[in-house]
Order: sequence, then C-alpha cells, then structure tokens
Amino acid sequence: MEVKFCMLCGHEMETRDVDGTWRRACTACSFVHWGNYSIGVGALVVKDDKMLLVRRAQDPGKGNWTNPGGYIEQLEPIHETIQREVKEESGIEAVVKSVVALRDQPRSIHNVYIAFEMEYVGGEPAPDHVEVDAAGFFSLQEMETMNVAGFTRWLVDVAFHRRSQGLTIDDAPVVPLNGYGLFRV
Ligand SMILES: [Zn+2]
Repeated sequence: MEVKFCMLCGHEMETRDVDGTWRRACTACSFVHWGNYSIGVGALVVKDDKMLLVRRAQDPGKGNWTNPGGYIEQLEPIHETIQREVKEESGIEAVVKSVVALRDQPRSIHNVYIAFEMEYVGGEPAPDHVEVDAAGFFSLQEMETMNVAGFTRWLVDVAFHRRSQGLTIDDAPVVPLNGYGLFRV
C-alpha cells in the first residue's frame, strides 16, 4: 500500500530519504507519511475474584468473550477513553488504577494495545446490544467452559497473577507538564 496523494494539500507524493529512511513525502508541502498505526485500549475490571467480560456481537470475533475495550480518539486522554468504553459496552463504572500490560503487533497497520487494571465503582453488567450482546463478571472456573478469545485469556492471567503493580497515573509530577497523561513506576 503506497500513499499517492498528500492528505494535507492534495499534491502528488514521492518516495525520498527523510533522515536516513525512505518514506513517502509530499512534493509540494512538508507532509511526510510516517506509517499506519492504531492504538487500542482494554480494561481489566476485577470484582470479588471475577473479571468483567463482554461477548462480541460483531466480527471480527463475533461470539467471543473479551474484556471491554476500543480504539483511542484523537483528543481524548486514554484513561478517559477506556472508562467511557467500559461504561458504554457493559454499563459498568470503573476507574483506571494502572497500566498492567502492553501488546505490540507490527504489521501493515502497526497496532499497540494498552491494558489497564481498573477499579469497579458501580453498576450492573448490561450489554450495549450494538458492539456486545452479553456482559458479566466471571471466575476463572466459569471461563473454562466459555469461548474466551486467546488474547483475552492472556489478559485474564495478567489480571489474576500480577507480577508488579504496573504503571500508575502521576497526577502530581515533579515537573509541571501540561497536556501530558503520565503513567509511571
Ligand atoms: Zn502536501
């Protein structure tokens, strides 16, 4: 897949050396196509030794149980995105405690997925009936007979067998850094 026209000014793109790497760049303005990327966020919400799962109502993965999640938005902080996604998909209110896992998938659209441990605040599981058609809290034993997606099984293990606290939100950084979402050890 090759970008032919500039998404800013509409002129033709060319392949040229940009700081030592061959990239598609505009022949008229300063636009450089750096690549295709996407960032996903996921929620690990555990309550009374059970984890919140939803059943996908759409492909890819229709019928699979996964943890709630979605893709980030242009101007929304990621911890707010995941709280909103959890509420929309499952009816559960939960807040971010820490970043506990990350998945890197370098491919045609390079995807990075960030998993948050979240604290249950309130609500009863209720699917949105658009993206998901069922929602609930399930124990490891209950999951054994459920169609839980492979990557979700890995995240379930992260949630139940943590090796560290993970990265927590730093809301009082030692240096004032406006507009940054900061997570740290
Ligand atoms: Zn251009």
